[in-house]
Amino acid sequence: MKFKDVIGNETVKDYLRKSLETNNILHSYLFLGIEGIGKLKLAKEFAKFVLCLNNKEEDCDCKSCLCYDGNNHPDFSVINEQRRYYKD
Ligand SMILES: [Zn+2]
Repeated sequence: MKFKDVIGNETVKDYLRKSLETNNILHSYLFLGIEGIGKLKLAKEFAKFVLCLNNKEEDCDCKSCLCYDGNNHPDFSVINEQRRYYKD
């Protein structure tokens, strides 16, 4: 999946895209809303977009995107309640 292919959320995608274009990326983002609206997909694709060494929204084969797509990017992880449960 690509950032642009996340369904809906156009206002949010425009905001995030503009953040990247203006190099005004905040240190954190919260993706809040009801279940099933694509928050996790959007957050993951935005993270990939931010980490891309070529700043490409489209297909990219830079080292970062390859690591990301292989689920072994050192600067990306998803922390959820289940994971927290296993650490406690
Ligand atoms: Zn890339």
